[in-house]
Amino acid sequence: MNNQELELNIGWLYPRLMSTYGDRGNLIVIEKRSLWRGYKVNIIHLDQNATAADIHGVDVIVGGGAQDRQQELVMRNLQGEKADALRDKLDNGTPGVFTCGSPQLLGHYYEPNIGQRIQGLGILDLVSVHPGENTQRCIGNLVIEVTASRLAEDLKEILGGATPYLVGFENHGGRTKLGTTEGLGRVIYGLGNNGEDGTEGAFHRNAIATYSHGPLLPKNPFVADWLIQTALRLKYEQPISLSPLDDTLAMQGREAMLKRLSVNLETPVEVKG
Ligand code: GLN
Repeated sequence: MNNQELELNIGWLYPRLMSTYGDRGNLIVIEKRSLWRGYKVNIIHLDQNATAADIHGVDVIVGGGAQDRQQELVMRNLQGEKADALRDKLDNGTPGVFTCGSPQLLGHYYEPNIGQRIQGLGILDLVSVHPGENTQRCIGNLVIEVTASRLAEDLKEILGGATPYLVGFENHGGRTKLGTTEGLGRVIYGLGNNGEDGTEGAFHRNAIATYSHGPLLPKNPFVADWLIQTALRLKYEQPISLSPLDDTLAMQGREAMLKRLSVNLETPVEVKG
């Protein structure tokens, strides 16, 4: 098949309710990097008007951060067949990137600062709790090393053998504790899941969950390529190799940030927090 025959359906979770923190950039990066390679792209809004069939039809899913109130509204809607469809997709390996408020909802529950516990979908074995208004939000730059084994191997290959570090920015009140779900990575700079155990994010089948805004993909474009490649391989059941793009500026941006944070990736690092 040539590239023009390949089509990627990108599902965007609740664009109006879950776009508080600029994570739309993740969607744009997946879209652009696919278009630049000649693939056809459709963006499907998975919101209140979407059906379970819409969810079943997507090849890759993007979910952004949200404020507590919006998270509650999302979970009031994401029930029944729609919840089952999302669970099926992620359990069957549909790739996705879920940031901050989204992973909190993919876990068992999120307890906000004010109001009732918000029951999540339980796809990820994790729980998130806001410790109350007297605790500081976790805000600032975030650097992690991807440790989720299969993903780390794949990213290393895309990076020509280099260790996969992700650069981002966190902004959350909730603290997440992982159960059996594997962490995405280990914190090198910043606070990550809870500021205590050094873990950041989660990885389930092909779903990447992270506290990293930034948004994540413009700063780490190789992750977008992994998502695109994984989605197309799964959809077309054939090997797909992506043509290279010029990422010089993005990579320079990463270097500049690591330098600014004085992160020396060669030496063991202290977890801040
Ligand atoms: N409301 C959640 C929290 O503060 C999520 C915030 C976000 O998505 N950035 O933990």
